Amino acid sequence: MPDHTFRLYNALTREVEPLVPSQKSEDGSPLLRFYSCGPTVYSYAHIGNFRTFLTADLIVRTAKAIGWEVNYVSNVTDVGHLTEDDTADAFGEDRMAKALKSKEGEQFANVWDLARHYTGALMADWQALNLKEPTIRPRATEHVREQIRAVEVLLANGHAYETDDGVYFDVPSFPDYGKLSGNTNIEELVVGSASDSRDVVVDEGKRDPRDFALWKKDDAHLMQWHSPFGWGFPGWHLECSVMAQKYLGETIDLHGGGEDLRFPHHDCEIAQAEAITNKPFARHWSHTRFLQVEGKKMSKRDGNFLTVHDLTAAVEDGGRSDWGAPIDPLALRLSLISGHYGKPFNFTQAALKVAAKNIQKYRHADDAVRESLEANREGGDNLKSPLGDAYADARAAMCDDLNTPEALAAAYRGVNAILSHHRQEPLSSIAAQAASDFLERINSLLGIIRHETDIEVKSRDNDALAEQVDALIAHRTEARSSKDWARADEIRDELDALGVEIMDLPTGTTWRNKL
Ligand code: AMP
Ligand code: ZN
Repeated sequence: MPDHTFRLYNALTREVEPLVPSQKSEDGSPLLRFYSCGPTVYSYAHIGNFRTFLTADLIVRTAKAIGWEVNYVSNVTDVGHLTEDDTADAFGEDRMAKALKSKEGEQFANVWDLARHYTGALMADWQALNLKEPTIRPRATEHVREQIRAVEVLLANGHAYETDDGVYFDVPSFPDYGKLSGNTNIEELVVGSASDSRDVVVDEGKRDPRDFALWKKDDAHLMQWHSPFGWGFPGWHLECSVMAQKYLGETIDLHGGGEDLRFPHHDCEIAQAEAITNKPFARHWSHTRFLQVEGKKMSKRDGNFLTVHDLTAAVEDGGRSDWGAPIDPLALRLSLISGHYGKPFNFTQAALKVAAKNIQKYRHADDAVRESLEANREGGDNLKSPLGDAYADARAAMCDDLNTPEALAAAYRGVNAILSHHRQEPLSSIAAQAASDFLERINSLLGIIRHETDIEVKSRDNDALAEQVDALIAHRTEARSSKDWARADEIRDELDALGVEIMDLPTGTTWRNKL
């Protein structure tokens, strides 16, 4: 594999620069350690969220296309995110508790139930849009111990202090605070943290208005844990720095998320992590610009708030008739990646229609190639060289700060070459092989031709286990359909003991090895 440079805009240096993995994998290839902020699971994820997750997915795919291994961690926030979390005090209502009280929340018995449901829905959308499964998808609620430990270390080393209401990070103790966003002007920060908030409940015990919450004391909170600083829950910023370091090490190669996370979330993560280790937290930072729908910010009131769930579901299952649901999930994927991640993106119905047509074209090419491989026709090779060039152009475009418009244009050129050759004369077996290799490689890079089955591949790692798990899942499905919930729960526990995680998706129950 030739040596490739993967250039990506680095928000820390404000330059497009080579992304450099600092470690090697076991086989000697570069190992990219990448953390991407995941969603808060209090409702269905919207297409803007997925635009950001797709950027992460494309980073992973591009890295793999140039021969790197990737340790990719993307979390699930199921506690700690308050409605006014972009203020330093972290006040407002808990997002999960608020969702429970809403109309949609009526179907859930408690916040845990709600989180479980929307985590499952997230995984279903993730698979539908053909995103690679992260190497690890940690949940904040399963890492509260580690977060408490981090607060203890920060208290002990003088970067945090306790008040009657919580524990706060002492911003003046960390002179680099704000280095990512450039928000270092104290007056601005104070104004920023108080904006729109006439009823901000400022903790009188805070030493500096910029100090942000690491732990909120609250023994009436719906999700609470016992800690040395009292019952309560962790501040939202803490989970990401703690889980990133737990799974990827003290200094990671790349950290990403949507543009709104640059400040305060990512600057707070940097402060927490670096105040503990005295080492740089992440060397490269990437942010995806926001998506708008038909030129406007998505909002429920304007009726342009689009979830992947609504767009891909049949109308009788809650799909959006005004958008022509159900929409082919790969067309939605293609549409969402068609604009450069670093520029604001306008999602339109017209562009979605064009994407749907293009996806059909990819499918036709795929069908023609399969048919030609089976037909095994004699003849020469007139596709290898143009398709080799088209793939090399697509990969080079992705290595150039994820230039998806150019990469997609190169992929399209290749597909048109396949279809026009096939129209002139059905593909020979050699040409069909070249075309098949091209489609396979383009699909690995961009994921737009057919779904990959990451999860199934993982489950087949161990045939004996797979058989046992499949049998248990079949029994559980039976138990569920005869409403024998106790037996269904028992089987879930047995599966849990076998170290597998099951996911109930609209297409049936699937599973994977727990990591
Ligand atoms: P949240 O669940 O609000 O934490 O969001 C999950 C991810 O989606 C974060 O990385 C956000 O920055 C990102 N995000 C939220 N809204 C948009 C949008 N309109 N366009 C792109 N990314 C977004
Ligand atoms: Zn985060």
